[in-house]
Amino acid sequence: MNTAYQNLCARLMMAGVPDARFDAAQLYQFATGRDPRLDDGPTPAEASRLAVLAERRAAREPLQYLLGEWDFMDFTLKVGRGVLCPRADSEVVCETAIELLQEVPAPTVYDLCAGTGCLGIGIAKHLPEAKVTCVEKSADAWPYLTANVSGTGVQAVQNDILTYYKSLPAGEADLIISNPPYLTAQEMASLMPETAKEPTVALDGGADGLDFYRVLTANYRDALRPGGWLVLEIGYAQAEDVLALGAAHHWVNGSCRKDCGGNDRVILLQKPEKIS
Ligand code: GLN
Repeated sequence: MNTAYQNLCARLMMAGVPDARFDAAQLYQFATGRDPRLDDGPTPAEASRLAVLAERRAAREPLQYLLGEWDFMDFTLKVGRGVLCPRADSEVVCETAIELLQEVPAPTVYDLCAGTGCLGIGIAKHLPEAKVTCVEKSADAWPYLTANVSGTGVQAVQNDILTYYKSLPAGEADLIISNPPYLTAQEMASLMPETAKEPTVALDGGADGLDFYRVLTANYRDALRPGGWLVLEIGYAQAEDVLALGAAHHWVNGSCRKDCGGNDRVILLQKPEKIS
């Protein structure tokens, strides 16, 4: 324990940072390379680095952005201003897709609104034969996506999912996964300070939060093979609405799974084996 670390904890608590002690320990480790609980104190150079980080975190910049990296499942991603931070809630979305593809040899997969690429890269890491394409339109997110896919075999494409389906061959994909923007206008108006510093384009799902689910359910069925899956992350209160959109657009076997916090988080929709 040392005074600099104690002061850092106090500064973050005063600023209302949730989990202030955890964040302080992470920032201390980042600035000094050492564990604060075993350390006597920072050098002057480390102390000034730490001071800058402390003020940015006190201003409620996401911890992930300050560290520049964040873990998702069993790997680490580059993150920073301009891209949505990968969340633990999304891990079940990725795991669901991996499960559905278990028996499919060399599956073709698209991750739409990929952001950091966490979902697509997670699939590729667990299914090395998979041909995964991550699609992201944001120029601000793009450098993170390309850095993260590098060396993974995953392809990154800069395109807008509102029109991207027109360029896809019919009936070839085995699975489409997406964590689209899904917050409602009301939720957008009352974001946590940290979330408010994440890109609006990654969060804003239109008035009722469902804009992207309308596009995905209406336009991406053709790209899948019969029996292929659409796996969607959803907001905790959207299961019923997204399942209804799926049924309206002739998807079958719709179901919902919960995340590790017990909230509805994943919708699975299947393209019928036979189109009647
Ligand atoms: N899960 C995010 C949040 O809670 C929202 C992510 C999204 O819109 N895709 O803020």
